[in-house]
Amino acid sequence: MGQLLSFTDKGLYCPAGDFYIDPWRPVAKAVITHAHSDHARWGHQYYLCHTYTKPILQARLGNNHYETVEWDEPVFMNGVKISLHPAGHIIGSSQIRLEYKGEVWVVSGDYKTEDDGISGAFTPIPCHAFITESTFGLPIYNWKKQADIYNDIRQWVTHNQQQFNTSVIIGYSLGKAQRIITALAPLQQPIYVHGAIWNMQQAIASAGIVLPEVIRVTPETSKAELKNSIVIAPSSAEDSPWMRRFSPYRVGVCSGWMQVRGNVRRHNADAGFTLSDHADWNGLLSSIAATGAEKVYVTHGFQSTLSRYLNEKGIWSAEVKTEYGGEEENAEADTITPVAE
Ligand SMILES: [Zn+2]
Ligand SMILES: [Zn+2]
Repeated sequence: MGQLLSFTDKGLYCPAGDFYIDPWRPVAKAVITHAHSDHARWGHQYYLCHTYTKPILQARLGNNHYETVEWDEPVFMNGVKISLHPAGHIIGSSQIRLEYKGEVWVVSGDYKTEDDGISGAFTPIPCHAFITESTFGLPIYNWKKQADIYNDIRQWVTHNQQQFNTSVIIGYSLGKAQRIITALAPLQQPIYVHGAIWNMQQAIASAGIVLPEVIRVTPETSKAELKNSIVIAPSSAEDSPWMRRFSPYRVGVCSGWMQVRGNVRRHNADAGFTLSDHADWNGLLSSIAATGAEKVYVTHGFQSTLSRYLNEKGIWSAEVKTEYGGEEENAEADTITPVAE
């Protein structure tokens, strides 16, 4: 097997096709898995991405040379066949399949195995080499079913309302927020959102995706209408003056990291919901096995643990050092320029 991708200091590089996948330094040609800021960076001369990803990139990075494709619509660069396939992570998120002289490599980007109804359903793609993330690559990470988590969130909101508290739900503005909105829609109540989430909603709507209606919190929003209401905000809003207008309120954080005891307290939250846009431990293992890959390269997360585990199971694996990661915890403010308020 040849080396269809090489791991360079600018990112994952395909020498035969002369392009990069999710490069972290400015390059001539970038193929983008998804619009999170650590994967889709500023400064490339050309971006190839899924149709749904383009309006989000435009909102984040401004005008650039963007070219879009649908899932499973091949593009050729110097004879390398490139196609994008659903990764199930966030809207537009894609696995990137490369084929050259009979050899197939797949870069998964970030992915999640349970279908959230918004992000496209992840399907494993047979390949010779698979590049996987490992954000939650430890056996302790096992997600509850999405329907059950959504139920928990709704019950928590209802309980807060009985106690005359506003429910402030914290979630990453691209990916998580749209799922929280979906989870809350059955309550048939107004859903208020922070400006960062509002901006994201507009970008997503311009991609032609219909989400439940939300109301933007502005300085004019009255305290009376917010009383006992539902508010969704990014983590940058936690413990900020912006939150004061909701008083009395309860804070619930949605994140895969909530699986670990102590993280609810660390966030100063009243509740934690283990809702993640990434595969859990079993999701990673079953996806890797389903590709049938001879070689598995492991990127950001718990790469040494996952890579060692795969090698012990007889699957050739190596760690790859990248500059991806951090999106669930700290990169929130970076997702989109928040409107001052
Ligand atoms: Zn991501
Ligand atoms: Zn990532």
